[in-house]
Amino acid sequence: MQLRFLGTGTSAGVPVIGCGCRVCTSTDPRDHRTRTSAILEFTDPDGHPRVILIDASPDLRQQALRERFERIDAILITHDHADHIFGLDEVRRFNVLMGSSIPVYTDDATHASLRRVFPYILDRVGPARSFVSDLTPITVEPLTPFGLFGLTVTPIPLLHGRQPILGYRFDDPDRRCDRDGSLLPLSYCTDVSSFPEGSEGALAGSGTLVLDCLRRRPHPTHLTVDQATEAAAWVGASRTFLVHMTHDLGHAETQAGLAGGIALAYDGQIVT
Ligand SMILES: [Zn+2]
Ligand SMILES: [Zn+2]
Ligand SMILES: [Zn+2]
Repeated sequence: MQLRFLGTGTSAGVPVIGCGCRVCTSTDPRDHRTRTSAILEFTDPDGHPRVILIDASPDLRQQALRERFERIDAILITHDHADHIFGLDEVRRFNVLMGSSIPVYTDDATHASLRRVFPYILDRVGPARSFVSDLTPITVEPLTPFGLFGLTVTPIPLLHGRQPILGYRFDDPDRRCDRDGSLLPLSYCTDVSSFPEGSEGALAGSGTLVLDCLRRRPHPTHLTVDQATEAAAWVGASRTFLVHMTHDLGHAETQAGLAGGIALAYDGQIVT
């Protein structure tokens, strides 16, 4: 089983259009960040390869070409911001490869937004008359676990400013998918600024944590480096990977100042 970071950048991406700063002009490939998204790749208990996509960024097409993955079995959406959903258009090509509709898991509020943004996908009557994605909406609720290809997935309640959003925790209690790995329990928490009631329990015992970390200066809807470090400490995962960074954070210099067990993730990074 492996987690692959497709993108690790904030909503504008890095480099930022028209910016000549040190990080935007860096030659370190780890300073080149597409919009935040990841895939969890594993073999299910029946021996089938599975790919779960977490968020569909506007860079999904480039990410898929770069990483050369050719299937998506399910999509989990954390919230309705453009940098996390605009790649749903690109899923149409995966519908062709899979020969089927692809289920999209998220909460009711986010499904309502998706229907507003993509009426030609989600509110159409009858078969599609043009080449558009074929998505099957499935509603999930915070702290109500569901099964997915042998894994148990628990939506984690998070706050993104004042907006309630979802993180996702992945467990494989019987080791039927993650037979010899140490990736799970994995908790994926992007775009978070605070942890509401219930989230602490859901995060407890995570072995791997993926966590929002925008920049050093405070922001109303994202964690800073110091806040992410503090959250990583109380969650206590053996490894924490930070995502959703702006061009304020150069990879090498920021990494050098982080506590042990905490790493800035980078595009294309694979964690097993
Ligand atoms: Zn975002
Ligand atoms: Zn810049
Ligand atoms: Zn957001």
